[in-house]
Order: sequence, then C-alpha cells, then structure tokens
Amino acid sequence: PPTEGRPDAIIVGGGIGGLSTAFALAREGLRVRVLERAKEFGEVGAGLQIAPNCTRILDEYGLLDEAKELGVVPENMVMRDALDSRELVRLDLGELERRYGFPYMVIHRSDLHGLFLRACRKAGVDLVTDQTVVDYENTDGGARITLADGHTEEAPLVIAADGLRSVARQKLVGDDIVSSDYVAYRAAVPIDAVRDNGIAEKDVTVYVGPRCHFVQYALRGGDMFNQVAVFQSPKALAGQEDWGTPDELDAAFEGTCETVGKGIPLMWRDRWWQMMDRDPIDTWVHGRIALLGDAAHPPLQYMAQGAIMAIEDGWVLARHVARLRAEGAAPSAVDWDAVLAAYEAVRVEHCRRILTTARAWGELWHLDGPERLQRNAIMRGIDPAEYAFTDWVYGPTALFPDEEPPMFQPIPLASARVEESAAAATD
Ligand code: FAD
Repeated sequence: PPTEGRPDAIIVGGGIGGLSTAFALAREGLRVRVLERAKEFGEVGAGLQIAPNCTRILDEYGLLDEAKELGVVPENMVMRDALDSRELVRLDLGELERRYGFPYMVIHRSDLHGLFLRACRKAGVDLVTDQTVVDYENTDGGARITLADGHTEEAPLVIAADGLRSVARQKLVGDDIVSSDYVAYRAAVPIDAVRDNGIAEKDVTVYVGPRCHFVQYALRGGDMFNQVAVFQSPKALAGQEDWGTPDELDAAFEGTCETVGKGIPLMWRDRWWQMMDRDPIDTWVHGRIALLGDAAHPPLQYMAQGAIMAIEDGWVLARHVARLRAEGAAPSAVDWDAVLAAYEAVRVEHCRRILTTARAWGELWHLDGPERLQRNAIMRGIDPAEYAFTDWVYGPTALFPDEEPPMFQPIPLASARVEESAAAATD
C-alpha cells in the first residue's frame, strides 16, 4: 500500500539503483517514496552481467532464484583477439562460483529492473512516475526537493539516483561528464539467428580489437543472444556533434574475425549509447542529500560493474541503517548522519577503484599494432586461478574501509605501461 504521510526517505530516479535501494531500505521497515521522471518504470537496453559481488546481495534479498530463472548462468568468460579470434584468457565461471559462493550470471536489464519493481511493490514502496525533480536543498533535519510542476516534498533523507546526467550532481558538484569518444551498439536477438555464426552459446565472450570490442552471451534461459559492439568514433575525435552513427559502426569492425563480422549486421541501428563517465569524486553526501549509483560514480562499462555498484550502494546504506539503529527503536528512528558518513567512508574509495580500472581496462582492450601483440602475450600468460585479480571486485561488499581488499592488477593496464615482453610477442 502507498505510504501515508511523510516518508523516511525519498529516492529520485527509479532505475536499477533507485529501485534496489528503495527495496533495501523498505526491508528495514522504512517508508520509502520513489519519484521517477519517466511516464512508466522501465529499462532500455539489453543484457547485464551480474558478478558474484551482486548475486550475493540478490541472494540475501531472496531474489536470486528468480533472477537465475530469468537469466543465464554461463560456463566460461573468454577473452579473444577480435582480429585473429585467438583465445587470450579463459575464466571458468563454475570455479569462480566455488570461490565466491555465488554465481556469475547474465540477465536482461528489463528483467532485473522488473524483479526489483515487483519486490518494491510487495515491500510497500510508494512508487510514483511522471515526476521530474528540478532542485534540491537541505532543510533543518532533512532535505527538500522541488518538482517541475513547482510542488515540493521533504524527507529526513533524499537519495539522488538520477543517473549519469543527475540534476543533483550538477547542483551539488557541478563537474562535467567526460566523453570517451567510444560508442556502444546493442542487440538482443533470437538465438536461432546466430547459431551459425561460430558463437559459444554457453560462454560470455569478449573480442578485443584495435579501437573496438565486441561482447556476446546468451540471455533469457538461452532463448536470446546478447551482443554489444563498442568502438571509437572518428567523428567524435574530429569534434563533430553527431557522432557514433551507424556508418561508423560498419567501418570500425572491418577486418575483424568471422564471428564478429557476422554479428555486426545484427546490431540495432536506431539507437546507440555514447560512452561517458565522470572523474571520481570524494564527496557524495551533502547534508541529507546523498548521491547513489551512476549519479555518484558513472563508469565506463568495461568492468561490467555499473549497475552492481548501484545495487551495492543501497545494500551498504541499508546495512548501516540496521547496524546504527538503537535496539527497540522505531523503524524510522535512524541516525542518518552516521549512516551517510559510514556509506561515504566505504563506497567512495571502492567505486573510485572501479572507475579508474575501467578506464585503464578499456585502453588495454583497444590497443593496436605491436602493443596489441604485447598485450596478447601478457594475457595468455595470466593464471586464471590467480584470484587476487578478482577478489577485490567479486569478494563480499565491504561495509567498512578496513574490509576493502587490496587492489590487485597482475598486468600493466595502461597502454603506456605495456612496454616489457616485446620479445615475447612473436605471434
Ligand atoms: P539509471 O539507470 O540512469 O537510472 C536513473 C533513473 O533516474 C532513470 O530511470 C531516469 O529516468 C531517472 N531520472 C533522471 N533524472 C531524473 C529527474 N530529474 N527526476 C526524476 N527522475 C529522474 N552495469 C553492470 O553492472 N553490468 C553490465 O554488464 C553493464 N553493462 C553495460 C553496458 C553498456 C553498453 C552500458 C552503457 C552500461 C552498462 N552497465 C553495466 C552500467 C549500468 O547500466 C549503469 O551503471 C546502471 O544502469 C546505473 O543505474 P542507475 O539506477 O544509477 O542510473
């Protein structure tokens, strides 16, 4: 049922970050109101990879079984060279599940979003669409938002989960979005349309190539096949406004191997995603207004952790609400200042690491010429059982800074650092 009276928390934005946080806080007995700009709740796009640091949280929420029914648990994660299709690294996802206790899975975005939407409804979250928030201010003991029609709402806590182009981020931080000059095309097609393309149905495959890469995996119980094609736009480099257009897509993947070449004509051509992020920032909490999800830390997607970080943010907030509430206190008796300080203390640094690693990872994937061959030689030498490489990302989400595992990078990530082993690059 919709909440009566003033909510304990208002969440601006009903994407995966906003809804998962609303659900996490409602589970702690809080009255939560979500305000979404769109006329209906929904997600545009195709697949999402959900790593063990997120399936662990879905399990705690009682949502993992349904997520697995809606998605696919692949067998391997394989990286190949996009030009000669040679295998570079293979991660056995069954082994990964044994190490972390939870699966690495893929799911359609709208299925994950729908899962949280239904969970929010059941938990009594007040969900309101067609609400555009245009301003934020702190009040005595809370925060106030102003909507496009001029009306205002207040709560002890306001969470801005309004995405990359966050109004709150603009007002409170005012930094610029950073363009990567790369663009993503997506497609989710019936599996039968690609069976003859040389695909690996049971794997997540990433083909890395000069200034481009291509991702493939099955979705929806294996009935659909997800493809993401990403490339650097020459028009963007030339400073043109309208960049990343379909003509550039075909040119970018000329000369790639057969499987990639057969996948490109299937990409959706009526919509593309210019890839942007922001520099990491240290302050996400301004009084009782807190940034969350892409509003706080929009990444380039090379680590496939953007939606996951948003889900982790909400989980961390809710855990601190539970931890800091006095025994026997009313659900709404939350020390928000302490909760927000604990949230910021742990999440800012974790997400900074993901953001900066994603940028470096992108550089590594997109190398050309001798540097590409050096990278391939280094990657073929990686021991997939060297879990220190993944522990800092896929291990349990830290609640406190001292629980954050050390960051580990066994390969030199930035192109400038791919210098050694030239001799090893004999292929
Ligand atoms: P959003 O999804 O942007 O949601 C923001 C919501 O706020 C929207 O519903 C919007 O309508 C609403 N809103 C905006 N402004 C207002 C306003 N003024 N008032 C009210 N409402 C407002 N992540 C992964 O974890 N795994 C992956 O495999 C992965 N792959 C990706 C592939 C691509 C090509 C891309 C581009 C991203 C990928 N990501 C992935 C990242 C992930 O999609 C995002 O990080 C995630 O969706 C962010 O969720 P969010 O809720 O914070 O923001």
